[in-house]
Amino acid sequence: MLNKKTLEDLQVRGQRVLVRCDFNVPMDEERNITDDRRITSSLPTIQYLIDNGAKVVLMSHLGRPKGKPNSELSLEPVANRLSQLLDREVTFAKDDRVVSEDVEKIISSMKPGDVVLLENTRFRKEEQENADEFAEELASLGDLYINDAFGTSHRAHASNVGISNQLPSAIGYLIQKEINVMGKALENPERPFVAILGGAKVSDKIGVIENLLDKVDTILIGGGMAYTFLRAQGHEVGTSILEEDKLDLARGLLESAEKKGVKFLLPVDITIAKEFKNDTDFKVVAIDEIPKDMMGMDSGTETIKIFSKEIEDAGTVVWNGPMGVFEMENFKKGTEAIAKAMAESKAVSIVGGGDSASAVEKAGYGEKMTHISTGGGASLEFLEGKSLPGIAAIDDR
Ligand code: AMP
Repeated sequence: MLNKKTLEDLQVRGQRVLVRCDFNVPMDEERNITDDRRITSSLPTIQYLIDNGAKVVLMSHLGRPKGKPNSELSLEPVANRLSQLLDREVTFAKDDRVVSEDVEKIISSMKPGDVVLLENTRFRKEEQENADEFAEELASLGDLYINDAFGTSHRAHASNVGISNQLPSAIGYLIQKEINVMGKALENPERPFVAILGGAKVSDKIGVIENLLDKVDTILIGGGMAYTFLRAQGHEVGTSILEEDKLDLARGLLESAEKKGVKFLLPVDITIAKEFKNDTDFKVVAIDEIPKDMMGMDSGTETIKIFSKEIEDAGTVVWNGPMGVFEMENFKKGTEAIAKAMAESKAVSIVGGGDSASAVEKAGYGEKMTHISTGGGASLEFLEGKSLPGIAAIDDR
């Protein structure tokens, strides 16, 4: 399916292997890592390299330091967590310049099986500019390059695209898994194939809907984006979030679904509130009973039942975007119900990254899913059928 070199295609023993990971993990105010899934997801690649006698040099970005050193966005806590997880010392090459003579010295003294983590690559403004000089500096620290940062593969930066032009390259196990699971769903899914899309806006999901209309049997729409479709069908949506300028487009997508024989389900009832806040009166009403002065905040009970039944009967389910304002306690039911239905379904269950992934983890269903993507934006672009530059740049087989 994927014609890219993988870890096993390279002779890594004794070599300095640069690995681009996605260690962009959430931290609290004391800089404790609050969710280490992105770190644990990268362990298979790192462990393989250790076991095969490579000198492992890891790099990643963290947050948005905007091209300047920022001690609050240092990767040091990640090095500590990695040390615990790998049960071996991970040397943190603490240097705001990311690459320097000091860092070179650390790397030249490495032995096979040693692991070093470089400082946040976005401390250098050349990173996001994909500048050749920075890619060359990074490349000077290694003999081989592995990209395992799925979450940044939709971006072309020096540490993922620039560097792959400098060194023999391959993808790591995480990218391989992401592409294999999502690729199979798109190319040869167990049917019925059901896609669930939510989140704030239709405009962010147009490409995904268009691409999926040729592949899925059913599309379930929830969250803020549902109101533009409901309005396009002539329903009153009160003060709900609405993209007036996307009404024609929504009508076009509904027509296209009908022509292609895709079942396109919108909410039949809604949890509404007067104000956009948690502490306010709310109630469930049928879709044609939304008063002019109230807004939709979550799926209704009937909608949850209908959507859950579609998921129960599915062969493959792909989900991206919350079904309501799930950050607010009173309006997280619809989103949690989807997570529960997917966890209980026998279907191949794939959760796009971002909000849906954190909702699944928070509700405790993480282990029950076939795959939770580590990249929100990247998985969305993959589902849109776009080529991801970080993967396209890797050597072909
Ligand atoms: P996105 O970033 O497009 O995936 O959208 C996620 C955001 O959509 C979350 O912050 C939700 O709170 C928000 N959202 C979901 N449903 C609604 C709704 N009915 N009204 C307003 N915002 C919503």
